[in-house]
Amino acid sequence: MEMKDQAGQVLKEYFGYDAFRPYQYEAIEQVMSGNDVILVMPTGGGKSVCFQIPSLLMKKTVLVVSPLISLMKDQVDSLRANGIEAAALNSSLTAAQEQDILNTCAEGRMNLLYISPERLMNSSSLLNRLNIGLFAIDEAHCISSWGHDFRPEYTKLNLIKDHFPNVPVMALTATADKITRKDIALQLRMQNPSIFVASFDRPNLSLSVRSGIQAKERHREIVHFINSRPRQSGIIYCLSRKLTESMAQMLENAGISSTYYHAGMDNERRRQVQEDFINDKSQVICATIAFGLGINKPDVRWVIHNNLPKNIESYYQEIGRSGRDGLPADTVLYYSTGDLIMLRQFAEESGKRELNLEKLQRMQQFSEADVCRRRILITYFGESFEKDCGNCDVCKSPRNHFDGTIITQKAVSALLRISDSIGSHMLVDVLRGSRKSELLEKGYDKIKTWGAGADIGYHDWHAYVLQLLNLGVFEIAYDEGYCLKPTDYGKEIAYGRKMISLVKPRPYEEFVPKKRKKKSWEDIEDFHEKVTVSDKVRESLRSLRSKLAAEEGVPAYIIFNDATLDDLINRAPGNYLQLLDVTGISHHKADKYGKAIIEIFAEQFGSQKKEKGQTYKITFEMLKQGKTIEEIAQQRSLNVTTIFSHVAYLYSIGENINIHDFIKPEDFQRIEEAYPLLNKSEVIKEYFEYFKEEIPYGSIRLSLAALTKTKG
Ligand code: ADP
Ligand code: ZN
Repeated sequence: MEMKDQAGQVLKEYFGYDAFRPYQYEAIEQVMSGNDVILVMPTGGGKSVCFQIPSLLMKKTVLVVSPLISLMKDQVDSLRANGIEAAALNSSLTAAQEQDILNTCAEGRMNLLYISPERLMNSSSLLNRLNIGLFAIDEAHCISSWGHDFRPEYTKLNLIKDHFPNVPVMALTATADKITRKDIALQLRMQNPSIFVASFDRPNLSLSVRSGIQAKERHREIVHFINSRPRQSGIIYCLSRKLTESMAQMLENAGISSTYYHAGMDNERRRQVQEDFINDKSQVICATIAFGLGINKPDVRWVIHNNLPKNIESYYQEIGRSGRDGLPADTVLYYSTGDLIMLRQFAEESGKRELNLEKLQRMQQFSEADVCRRRILITYFGESFEKDCGNCDVCKSPRNHFDGTIITQKAVSALLRISDSIGSHMLVDVLRGSRKSELLEKGYDKIKTWGAGADIGYHDWHAYVLQLLNLGVFEIAYDEGYCLKPTDYGKEIAYGRKMISLVKPRPYEEFVPKKRKKKSWEDIEDFHEKVTVSDKVRESLRSLRSKLAAEEGVPAYIIFNDATLDDLINRAPGNYLQLLDVTGISHHKADKYGKAIIEIFAEQFGSQKKEKGQTYKITFEMLKQGKTIEEIAQQRSLNVTTIFSHVAYLYSIGENINIHDFIKPEDFQRIEEAYPLLNKSEVIKEYFEYFKEEIPYGSIRLSLAALTKTKG
């Protein structure tokens, strides 16, 4: 059989995947013909199978050098779950466990052996006894002092080639830059390696930036964001340890299960926090950048930056922790003038001042960009990216430019009229005509521009100040207590000699699913069937997964990840063969879990067949006959709430329904008033609680159906 077919077969049988991703097979092919390889792929790109598959093809051991015990453990668990023999040699093993591993190796049954770089160098007798087919060096950038994560113990890896001149070496990294790449080849003494660089675009990550939102409002947005993603794991990166703690507390107060993580905590505590996150015991982790390395959780569904990252590399790495399973994930970055001041200070005090300031500036430009953000991000890494992505906030709502000269004049002239040094908060207060005591004491309410910008909201003003900073109208005087100063350019505008164009700040948009279009009855039946059945099936599959995970002592995603869960629901396998078609279901998993999975589908589909999606149709027919919701509920032996949800659904797909026939006018009015106050939330429970349970669920549901339709 051709190598490619063999490799493809192994991919399907042992990993459950149908096709290779770009460069995976190419890398495998090279090591199979004895060549050295450098493989550069973003996080989540699929590097692991590139050294895992050769071990199965060669029937020899692949020695994997990896810097972190947690990463080793994760990979070993996933391999074993797929029926592949693997183990990690590290300091946490007992003598007996270690002997066990060595025995398996001696019997020639070990497919992959994970080892730390220190350990590798002290294990020559072991190495000589093994039949090693490939050395895989994970996180290979650690060998280069050019990289961002140099580890001295990696430098010893240069001895591999001395001892094993004929065994190919594969170096893997997610670090893109060319110098590091070259250095890796040099340090490992690779012989004319084949270099594969995959695209750094991660199209499944949505990108979004929110500027100038002050803490209180930001907290509301974040809570809303998380509440609209029930049970989805996410990370909030904060600039300081203190912020991680207060953010976690804020979320806990809002009823969201969250913890914090930073370098100031002891090891045991940090390990526990990580573990709880991996095992879905806490939904959200509020962390400094200390968190993430060694976290392999593939189903992180979102990342929020509460503060501006210090450079684009960190930003990319941090958002990259979401969506590793390839399913959609959302990322939101908040930034404010305060962040700029703080980061600027860090950069000033750092060893590489010039470089770090420059990088901060690029980060800032990214955040204020009014062209597709992904284009900026990807081209920053030296790749060409010529289309707009369609999955960033700029693509989704193109910028609205307008003549901002007057706004700018007001802001600059306020600064010029105040002889004291003031920062952005005071400036905005003056422009908005605030009566805060500090402002009145200083007499700022007497200056001509006090209140000159009262027509513009507080948040919008903060967003404008950031734009003006980026456009060079203001600068931050770092040596004068970080106050704002107009530049010469700013003065030119103030004196009416120059014009300036600004961008309208955007209100908060949620990533709500697309509104459903009107469909035919068949579609509706089909849809209905899918919704209700798939919700139940999803629940059952999830609990099966948790149960198995607990039994086996591994994270739930090792049993099967969300991508597999989705595909299971999509395909609804009725038998073993159909189960094998599902992505991520290896033969081993099908053997082990197949029966339980297929039973879940049999149960659900068996009992659902009776009603077969007629339910909306029946409700609609009865409404047309002039029956009330209560009557319908009674006659059909269904809940009133259920019938309300049918009505809301019928309305949302465009059926001729006047929802006001079903809601008291005063209730509707109250809900309409609350709608903007609750940030246009679509979570019924929030309104229910807001009205102290005075307005029934059904009425809220219908009103929201109407409000989201008319007001968007
Ligand atoms: P990396 O090490 O590059 O961060 P991983 O090796 O952990 O990435 O792979 C990321 C995810 O993609 C894993 O869930 C993996 O099983 C999955 N994956 C890898 N290759 C394929 C493929 N050819 N088809 C589908 N999924 C794949
Ligand atoms: Zn875009």
